[in-house]
Amino acid sequence: MGTGALEGLWDATCRRLQDRLGAESFERFFEGARLVGLADESAVIALRSDFQQWWVESNYLDVLREVMAGAAPGVRKVRLTVEGHEDEPAEGKEGKAEGAAPAAAGHASDEIYRKRTAEAGLKPDYTFASFVVGPNNRFAHAAALSVGRSPSTNYNPLFLHGGVGLGKTHLMQAIGHKLLRSRRRVHVAYLSSEQFTNEFIDAIQRNTMSAFRDRYRRAEVLLLDDVHFFAGKERSQEEFFHTFNALLDGQKQVVLTSDRPASSIRNLEPRLVSRFEWGLTVELQPPDEETRIAILRKKAEQWKVTIGDDILHYLAANIRTNIRRLEGGLTRLATYASISGERLGLPLCERLLADFLQEEGRGRSSIDSIQRRVAEHFDIRLADMTSKRRPAHIALPRQIAMYLARKLTTASLVDIGEAFGGRDHGTVIHACKRVMALTKDDAAVRLAIRRLEDELRRR
Ligand code: ADP
Ligand code: MG
Repeated sequence: MGTGALEGLWDATCRRLQDRLGAESFERFFEGARLVGLADESAVIALRSDFQQWWVESNYLDVLREVMAGAAPGVRKVRLTVEGHEDEPAEGKEGKAEGAAPAAAGHASDEIYRKRTAEAGLKPDYTFASFVVGPNNRFAHAAALSVGRSPSTNYNPLFLHGGVGLGKTHLMQAIGHKLLRSRRRVHVAYLSSEQFTNEFIDAIQRNTMSAFRDRYRRAEVLLLDDVHFFAGKERSQEEFFHTFNALLDGQKQVVLTSDRPASSIRNLEPRLVSRFEWGLTVELQPPDEETRIAILRKKAEQWKVTIGDDILHYLAANIRTNIRRLEGGLTRLATYASISGERLGLPLCERLLADFLQEEGRGRSSIDSIQRRVAEHFDIRLADMTSKRRPAHIALPRQIAMYLARKLTTASLVDIGEAFGGRDHGTVIHACKRVMALTKDDAAVRLAIRRLEDELRRR
């Protein structure tokens, strides 16, 4: 279809869009957009910025498809790109360096790469290039990169665990991106354990077990997310056990993630726990403040939004334990700034972020005060509450503080673990049990706890 015809069609679409969305939203999100291609029932629309693309994709894709189909019957799909980026590989700089000589070195072309990442179930932006490395995730990143470079050699399986929103899924998918970018034929499959379980149940009901088995046993690299979901699901565990063995026997790579170490997953069969721990297990910790700022800068740059440094610092200082929440805060501010055209000041930010801050603060300030008070009582440094040090004179007060946090706040086990230097929830349970046992046997501990508890309740 010629450019003139595309323009005419786009004009007609814009008029309808404007009617549907109102002039203001239309201008904000579609101003400068163009219809750049129309083939195989798909329309390709180029927007001006990543932010617009992201926004339209999350909010207006259905409307756009409908309106497009009205103007050009036969169109069933709409694909969005960013002006000037149409030919850029989604993997970004690193990907480009790796893909320097596409055909000759066996690298996938951009179009094929995009298609294959979608087929594998990967999100386009979960690449190594968009992942910020900090002290909290350096080791996990290095391990993932190594698997992405040479799967089935060193770390098999690779088991990544850590709290919610700390980048496990992102890193796991980055491995898939890297492989699909650099190898023409590799078969990568990404899925969550929940999806695995659902497909398994479905296969039993429909009598299609062999097709189900074949689907995942054929993979050369299997990325299985959130294996804690298998807790207590015996038949899914059993099925996965066989899939896992078949893959490892065939020298295929398996990568797993979980919100806790394998040994802390309730009702996970011991043989699976030991399989999961065969290769390399790495923990992701919550990011420190510099890393949080670096992540915010990277996201703002990706979305092409300008947010003042003071605001980024404010966000990073106030949202500390979950990168997804941090990102949610940034999205909220960026959206507001974009829609209102207002410059964001701190009081406004505080208002806009009220629910995020509340979520973050829930149980948090009281955990802080418990840590402070317990550290003071036992005369240890506050930093030891979150440190990895283990001598008994530090470990016991830390366990007492965890026990008190459990008893006196509404924070979840996972949140408490996070507040104590990113420990997992199993550690918190262990601490509570130990302290409860001690209060029975040890009068001094019992007394100290009673005193601390009384004092903290009075605050
Ligand atoms: P998890 O699987 O651990 O719950 P995700 O991988 O879904 O967490 O990450 C949550 C969000 O935070 C994602 O949007 C992801 O891109 C982002 N994120 C996490 N860690 C990083 C990082 N180091 N650099 C950039 N973005 C990150
Ligand atoms: Mg995840």
